[in-house]
Amino acid sequence: MRDTVSELLEQIGRVRRAFLLLDYDGTLVPIAPTPELARPTPELLRILRRLVSRDRWQVAIVSGRPLRELEDLVPVDGLFYVGAHGAEMRAPRGERQRLAPDGAREHLKLLARKLDTTLTGCPGCQLEHKEFSLALHYRQARDEVAQTALAHFFRLGEPLVRTGAFEWLKGKKVLELRPARVNKGHAVQELLKQYARPEEQPVYIGDDETDEDAFRILRDSGITVLVSPEARPTWARYRVDSPQEVHRLLELLADIYGA
Ligand SMILES: [Mg+2]
Repeated sequence: MRDTVSELLEQIGRVRRAFLLLDYDGTLVPIAPTPELARPTPELLRILRRLVSRDRWQVAIVSGRPLRELEDLVPVDGLFYVGAHGAEMRAPRGERQRLAPDGAREHLKLLARKLDTTLTGCPGCQLEHKEFSLALHYRQARDEVAQTALAHFFRLGEPLVRTGAFEWLKGKKVLELRPARVNKGHAVQELLKQYARPEEQPVYIGDDETDEDAFRILRDSGITVLVSPEARPTWARYRVDSPQEVHRLLELLADIYGA
């Protein structure tokens, strides 16, 4: 059986130019016990530098992490960065652009302050306030405590959701409130609209549920690659097993098409 990396190499090799859109955690680096431990290897940074130095490639990192954190983590001149699940992005040497609606951050800040006070009586509940989202984690809480906390969160957040500017996102023992229509799919669309060059083929590689928005948007126009040790329902056309395979692919692309 032909190996997927060789097949991808052939596919990508056929196009004149490609925009490589790469998720970070679980795609470029293995998932680590804590996010701080998921550092790029010097080798990975070298491969990315080689790729961005060639006219054939443009490269973006597309992650759930905040933009600033991504820039520090992967300090490669010439990279595009899309952070916070698509709430913000930056082109090489460019200005930060916010893709989340105006006022989203302020609304969330206000809500977090109210909720913080309310949740002091809910042991085991944890409020995670990121710049563009607010998540209530209740894994550690007793059932009735969790129900009370969720009811508070819902009561405060629902008016924002009703305006259409925010949406609820339900995960495993976590309820998250975030700006509506902010996801990796929309961000990639915006990035390509602003920066894709003529005859440039988007190539998206990711391992998360949140990458599915991008896979779906690119299903007809791009080359989409899921990183997962086993097959699962996905919009992506190809699958590789691990970040190691992603490295191998990127390295081969840099070796064959880069100086
Ligand atoms: Mg990931």
